[in-house]
Amino acid sequence: MRTSSVVIPLLSLSLASGSLASQQPQPQQQPSNRGPGGARGTQIQPGESCPPGTTEIRPRNCLGPEAPAPSILDYRPKSTLVAPVHMVKTAKYAAIDYHGHPQGLLGSAEGIANLGAYMDSLNVRMMVAADNMSGDRLKNAVAVINASPKMKDRVRVLAGVDFRNVGPGWAEKAVAQLEADVAAGAVGVGEVGKGFGLSAKKADGTRLKLDDPELKPIWDACARLRLPVFIHTADPQEFFEPVDYTNERWLEISLFPGRRYPPDKFPKFEEVMAERDNLFRKHPKTTFVAAHMGWHANDLARLGKMFDESPNLYGELGAVLYDIGRQPRAAHDFFIKYQDRIIFGKDSYQPDEYPYYWRVFETNDEYFDYYRDYHAFWKLYGIGLPDAVLKKVYYGNALRITPNLPRAGFPAN
Ligand SMILES: [Zn+2]
Repeated sequence: MRTSSVVIPLLSLSLASGSLASQQPQPQQQPSNRGPGGARGTQIQPGESCPPGTTEIRPRNCLGPEAPAPSILDYRPKSTLVAPVHMVKTAKYAAIDYHGHPQGLLGSAEGIANLGAYMDSLNVRMMVAADNMSGDRLKNAVAVINASPKMKDRVRVLAGVDFRNVGPGWAEKAVAQLEADVAAGAVGVGEVGKGFGLSAKKADGTRLKLDDPELKPIWDACARLRLPVFIHTADPQEFFEPVDYTNERWLEISLFPGRRYPPDKFPKFEEVMAERDNLFRKHPKTTFVAAHMGWHANDLARLGKMFDESPNLYGELGAVLYDIGRQPRAAHDFFIKYQDRIIFGKDSYQPDEYPYYWRVFETNDEYFDYYRDYHAFWKLYGIGLPDAVLKKVYYGNALRITPNLPRAGFPAN
């Protein structure tokens, strides 16, 4: 049974914070903290929030716990839900990871053999390495891939474009380097990093905008060479917002303060996104793949509108599983509607994490853990995609938009 003794310090806390004190005088002693019907706690006015350390136990009646409240790091409740569990260790169909960062594994025969063993265990048939390789580094990686009888059809690389110092003479050089990288084996461009739009500067010192007209020759070259452009723009919107207790990514930003984009140092999220959308629209013959679903997996209507406006646009799924899996009905319908536009990719190369993706896409399991608490403090749900859609998302769409990917190992349909 609770005693009311703990309520008094909480009341004084709320008085000290000032927000409530100005609107509602607080009596000093209990049973003064009894509200209508005799409920214990602090009364608030309609529209007000409960004071810190309390929660709304009845309408407009806030109470703090008797025991000291754990921090969000230490509160780890075990779910009592008993529901069907379908762990999916390997993808149902051969998958292409379009957002591969195989780290140093393309540097040696042992490395690529190691990569192959992990890919086999997950049924990832192919990895597209999105490490912005160019010149000798790209040639070395391609040589390692070609030297492996087992892996020569299972890894492909994207070429990097150097967006620094865009100005007179830049485009000719960049296009020539891209052509050389394609001759060396590159099948696309990317990953164009988030620095493009947020921090990259032109030769004249101004910020390089995504839709800068000086970049037109490189996008035209990508269309001519049939190279999809894999592009990561900005970061989750919360990284641009004030870091307070209403920010969904408070924990992540507090763990990694460098992920913040304060407005005095960076352009606003919407400013960068508007430039990006303009880039997609201005180059309809160039195929773009927006990494991380363009950071709009939390707003599927917005993403759908983008797909409708730009038929040359595709979305890649890396690192946004927490948004797909928290809206299983809407996400299911979205995947059905845009089944020709969504491409699997994982981003961070952690073999243990792929099965979470398979489980969300392939099952109807409910209320299960995500792999990274600091991304999402909520649970995931399966979206139960039909086989025909899984095939497109896992490999069909990637093969269709990337003409130079090997077809071996994928079903013909
Ligand atoms: Zn990436």
